[in-house]
Amino acid sequence: MPSDARQLPSFPAPAPDETVYSVFVRSVIRSGLLEEVILRVLTGQRFKYALNGSIPGYIASIAYHVPSGHLFQDPGYIVANHTCFPYFTFFAPASVRHELFKKTTEVDHISTIRLSLGLTRYPIPAQPPTHRYCPQCTAQQKQVYGFSFFQRQHQLPGVLVCAKHKSVLYHGCAICGTYPIRRHALIPGCCLCENYAPLPVVPAPENLEPLIWLARESEYLLKSNGTIHGTPRVAIKNAMLDKGMCKGGLVLPEKIADAIDERFGMEALQLLGINTWQGARPASWLRRLFDVKQRDLVGKPAVLMLLVLGSVFRSVKNFEELHEGTGTVSAPVAHAPVKLNERLPGVLQVLVEKDFKLQNVMDHFHASYGTLIRELRRLKATVPLSPKMHKKLGPILEQVRADLRAGKPKNAIMRQYGLCEETIILIELDQPDLNGVHRESARAATRDNHRRAVTKFIQENPGAVRCDIMTRLPGSYDFMARCDREWFLKQFPTRKKAAARQRTPRCDWEGFDRDKTEELERQTVEQCAANDCPVYLSKNALLKKLGIQSRYRMNVDKFPKLSEALSRHVETYDEFVVRRITWAIKQYVGTDMILSMNGLRRIARLPAHLIQEKKMLVAKMTIELDIPVDFNSCFAK
Ligand SMILES: [Zn+2]
Ligand SMILES: [Zn+2]
Repeated sequence: MPSDARQLPSFPAPAPDETVYSVFVRSVIRSGLLEEVILRVLTGQRFKYALNGSIPGYIASIAYHVPSGHLFQDPGYIVANHTCFPYFTFFAPASVRHELFKKTTEVDHISTIRLSLGLTRYPIPAQPPTHRYCPQCTAQQKQVYGFSFFQRQHQLPGVLVCAKHKSVLYHGCAICGTYPIRRHALIPGCCLCENYAPLPVVPAPENLEPLIWLARESEYLLKSNGTIHGTPRVAIKNAMLDKGMCKGGLVLPEKIADAIDERFGMEALQLLGINTWQGARPASWLRRLFDVKQRDLVGKPAVLMLLVLGSVFRSVKNFEELHEGTGTVSAPVAHAPVKLNERLPGVLQVLVEKDFKLQNVMDHFHASYGTLIRELRRLKATVPLSPKMHKKLGPILEQVRADLRAGKPKNAIMRQYGLCEETIILIELDQPDLNGVHRESARAATRDNHRRAVTKFIQENPGAVRCDIMTRLPGSYDFMARCDREWFLKQFPTRKKAAARQRTPRCDWEGFDRDKTEELERQTVEQCAANDCPVYLSKNALLKKLGIQSRYRMNVDKFPKLSEALSRHVETYDEFVVRRITWAIKQYVGTDMILSMNGLRRIARLPAHLIQEKKMLVAKMTIELDIPVDFNSCFAK
């Protein structure tokens, strides 16, 4: 047993279908411990909203921390029996369902799982924000268990009534608010004030039947292991084919919208907050529901699938039985999953044999309409329009062709001429290049539309940047980023590079150079005039005297004048020796000293061998200056 579990000596056993949140609330009430304490032990964090919702988080953590022997020790048990998970994955393929189930039992943070489940695509909140209950259920619970609790089947999207008691659900007190009331741990039927006034989720409608059906079928999804149909949408479509809700293998959204309206009634649909129409057209979710291109991993929102199912089948059970062939609805086409790259070998020959009757070709291959059309388009086959069709279309045929070539959206063409999608497909098959041309022009037209929108925006908002397009024209921005990037980038001036700032130099090198050159000239002149013992005028010595030895070496190019002056004044060592000896000999003038090697060496402060090298110079100078020389010295010779 994990060591933390010892801190939680008791945790209530869950009642059937009780939500995780409800068990937590009861554990708080029963133990008298602070919510934070229990939360900390169970989930390791302090926010109880993590336990809200039809699929709470921290299931793995809870399973790990409940006392030994508790049913919640198995995370799979929690997910399957105390969350709404099975409802959301009913229409998903079995493999996806199992994978998501495993993930839900393993992780604490389930935001990604909520995304994978498609909860964000629900037209109404997939997880109702309030906790709902049925007063009659609550009364029964008190009789049987001695306490009341929230049930998971009441927390589903689209469930507004209790299927068992056929009455509207409640979710709080008219005075105190909705559960969780001001974040207090309360079980259904309790509130903070003394005059508990139950608050219904919606006002009771005249006709409860559609909502009861929805609640009952939602509960059916919740307590089943998922559909037995590989692709439920194909199964529904086949049933619709039978009911005449399709034309040429394509589902007609108008007919489904009508059927849903008829089955559920506007009152119920309004209470649910689901629209089947947008103006004169069927709602976009209906149009997308049978679009094979939009294949989601988890399928479509279960509540929408239920509405569509309800318009065709008596119940979900009825729909499930269809697979066995015992249902009332017979399926004209095998329930094969849609294969986007299915090939029909020899289709062109069969097409001619069947006299270009598409229905006969479909029957021959047992293929769906979509598969046949895809294959014909791929092979660029020509299917001539029947004389009947020619007669029916008459003069508008050429107009439709022209519109298609111009890339006008097919939906708009269909509406303008009152044609169905099948007719457009037939017109296209009559001239096989038409589909490609239309696609190209449509693409160009879309691009031009977006370009116009962007150009207009930039004109109206001078100085706009890419980010503005992203926030104000998100659709165009996405398109541009995907398909028209180069043009898009050209619309915005490339950011000007900031001009390099002209920094005032920290040192006036020119003046410095001039001053130091003057100083050098002055020093050398002074030194020559002083008649002191000459010093060696090396470059280093001169710079040292100016006090700019390292500064000069680091910035030679900043001292052009000084460099020039230095080259004039710097002497070689030999020149220096000559200068020093010359100076030393001059010191004898006007004295009665006799010039000897030792004497000269001491005055000149030079080693004897250097003086020896210049003995010719010394001899010459002593003669010129008339200085007596020691007869023993080398100079005398
Ligand atoms: Zn009830
Ligand atoms: Zn109250």
